[in-house]
Amino acid sequence: METDLSYVSENLRIIRERTAEAADKYRGGVQPRIMAVTKTVPPETVNFAISQGIDLMGENRVQEFLSKQEAYDRSAEIHFIGHLQTNKVKYIIGAMSMIQSVDSLKLGQEISRHAVAAGKVMDILCEVNIGGEDSKSGVAPDQLRSLISQLTPLEGIRIKGLMTIPPPSESDIFLGRMEELFNKLKDEKIPGISMDELSMGMTHDYAEAVKHGSTIIRIGTGLFGARNYANK
Ligand SMILES: *Cc1c(COP(=O)(O)O)cnc(C)c1O
Repeated sequence: METDLSYVSENLRIIRERTAEAADKYRGGVQPRIMAVTKTVPPETVNFAISQGIDLMGENRVQEFLSKQEAYDRSAEIHFIGHLQTNKVKYIIGAMSMIQSVDSLKLGQEISRHAVAAGKVMDILCEVNIGGEDSKSGVAPDQLRSLISQLTPLEGIRIKGLMTIPPPSESDIFLGRMEELFNKLKDEKIPGISMDELSMGMTHDYAEAVKHGSTIIRIGTGLFGARNYANK
């Protein structure tokens, strides 16, 4: 029996509507890209979202990605957004067009090494732990400038902007701080990097994130429903 996936179309319609509304109100109509975050979601459901116009997917876990990769519709671009161990870089370097979760020199060096070997230049974002939470990955805001300086000279990688997951309970304050940090770096016009992408906003705060200048919102639950880990 075919699974009824019409809820995905309906969810996507709502996300597009709210995103457009926030973009019109706060960003002169400039819309962010909508990323479908695929963790625990079966490939056929992800492919259905792609058939509805989603052109960007976000992967969190190397193992899960490798097990689903073959079944994915190849027409969407894929970004890695999860915590990445240096010894796993080699498994994903070929399939990703961006790694959004770079938060250390060591990880940057490993991506650089594998990208050079693969003859490609990997776009990366620096992940910022804007709320200073112990539980989260990301570089501390006061270490960001120094990490960027260390990453900039590396071959095979190109810094394109910043990514964050703010503390859920106070996301508005921290989305605002990310916007400031991003604009400050953008104004610096650091040679060899660009500040084009600000990846922030999830199911509970994407409209707020658009208000604060997000260029990529990353939606899981709001698109695919509550995650069923048993189903994975
Ligand atoms: C799971 C996840 C998301 C999506 O979260 P939802 O609240 O389900 O929309 C976005 N970004 C990252 C890094 C994630 O791990």
